Amino acid sequence: MKNLFLENIDLKQGLLDELLKCSFCGLCEWVCPTLSVLNHRLYGPRGRVEIIVYSIQNEVINKEIIESVYTCLLCKACNTQCPAGINIAGSIRRFRTTLYPAKR
Ligand code: SF4
Ligand code: SF4
Repeated sequence: MKNLFLENIDLKQGLLDELLKCSFCGLCEWVCPTLSVLNHRLYGPRGRVEIIVYSIQNEVINKEIIESVYTCLLCKACNTQCPAGINIAGSIRRFRTTLYPAKR
């Protein structure tokens, strides 16, 4: 898939600055409703953080990435659990805006 989202350098750097604070502790996972139902790490906050970082750093968008971020309910439950204070839901939402041009 064409990586048109990579044109937005400021947004990508902002996301990396926020998400690279993640220590992958997993404390955010137990409150996530989609992880609870779908039972796969890519449908939980830690997996979504990981896959967004992977997407940006490797300049790739694929079906797995899109399904991971678009199944998020943006409920913000994960934000309340993160010891690093990462705005997880907000970062997922912002990343989704970067994908919009690539889906046209
Ligand atoms: S905002 Fe998304 S990742 Fe966070 S708890 Fe809600 S559904 Fe899960
Ligand atoms: S709680 Fe915060 S630091 Fe821990 S895995 Fe989740 S996003 Fe990363």
